[in-house]
Amino acid sequence: MVIAKKYVLAKHFEGEPKVSDLAIVDEELPVLKEEEYLIQAEFLSVDPYMRVYTQRYPVGITMIGRQIGKIIASKNKDYPVGKRVVANVGWRTHTIIDPNSKEHFGQPPYVLPDFGTLPASLGLGVLGRPGNTAYFGLVEICQPKAGETLVVSGAAGAVGSHVGQIGKILGLRVIGIAGSDAKCKWLKEELGFDHAINYKTQDITAALEKAAPHKVDCYFDNVGGEISNIVMNQMNNFGRVSVCGSISSYNAQSDALPKCSVVQKMVVTLQLRIEGFIVSRWDHRLMEGIEQNYQWVKEEKLKYRETVTEGFENTFEAFAGMLQGKNSGKAIVKV
Ligand code: NAP
Repeated sequence: MVIAKKYVLAKHFEGEPKVSDLAIVDEELPVLKEEEYLIQAEFLSVDPYMRVYTQRYPVGITMIGRQIGKIIASKNKDYPVGKRVVANVGWRTHTIIDPNSKEHFGQPPYVLPDFGTLPASLGLGVLGRPGNTAYFGLVEICQPKAGETLVVSGAAGAVGSHVGQIGKILGLRVIGIAGSDAKCKWLKEELGFDHAINYKTQDITAALEKAAPHKVDCYFDNVGGEISNIVMNQMNNFGRVSVCGSISSYNAQSDALPKCSVVQKMVVTLQLRIEGFIVSRWDHRLMEGIEQNYQWVKEEKLKYRETVTEGFENTFEAFAGMLQGKNSGKAIVKV
């Protein structure tokens, strides 16, 4: 008999998530039916969307999220013991998966591609959905051209650090905005960003004027709010904005969102194109994105960093720490 441990939502988050908002409980798993297989979690992903999306579900749900699990028992020949899958099954140690089920939020588990000598955990980051978010969100929405200037906010995180590097691969001038000097140093000295601005200590307007003398053509927006309005005010005619996220507002109550300057005048006069997206738009091209990013990693054009928290029982700390900016690159938990 297998006893799974899982986190359940004990209380909806209000403001910054608190450890008491979640509870770890045991769940006795039934015996496997035909076609089913059992996975044991190896790595869990902690992501900003979890802060927002949990509000849509009732208290008592298993905390949402993707993981990489190893198949440890199987009654399905397509999912043999020993293979790894990427599965949207939440924060749990063990899970029975029925591949024909419509569960998992419409995102069926898939067998982790073979990444050669690279760590399997990259399937939650640079070689998974955050990687595809960066790739499709920049290339498809901003449609950047060599020589243009790209600004990315949330620049030292999983998505942002990747977006800036794709920008460099495509021949852009890249400016990152991030929350510490250490992060800015990493972006410039290791990832090849042309400039990095610490939004907590620098005057963003002045720093951006200096870093982007020919103004901004593409803006990849991970944070929303005032930072984004400042960037949009410094764009060129027909600039493109890819709205990926708005983490500056995620801990705010929906009836008390942060106030920021009106930006519509610039949107009209500069004729900006602003488009939001969810990476699932390109689920039918999932493997295309993973293969492109894998190719760039192998060619050493794309570097990655993981902020790894050890231990299933520390998953909340990893999640809260990521929201507070304690991570650089992808925040994950090694179970
Ligand atoms: P991440 O950037 O690795 O981690 C979150 C980062 O947000 C923190 O490290 C922190 O870095 C920054 N942050 C926290 N509070 C902030 C604030 N008030 N103002 C500015 N920055 C703040 O997370 P990620 O997974 O790569 O996600 C980045 C963004 O992309 C999020 O908005 C997320 O919701 C979005 N996203 C969207 C999609 C999609 O399909 N549209 C898919 C994946 C992710 P600092 O130290 O720099 O503050």
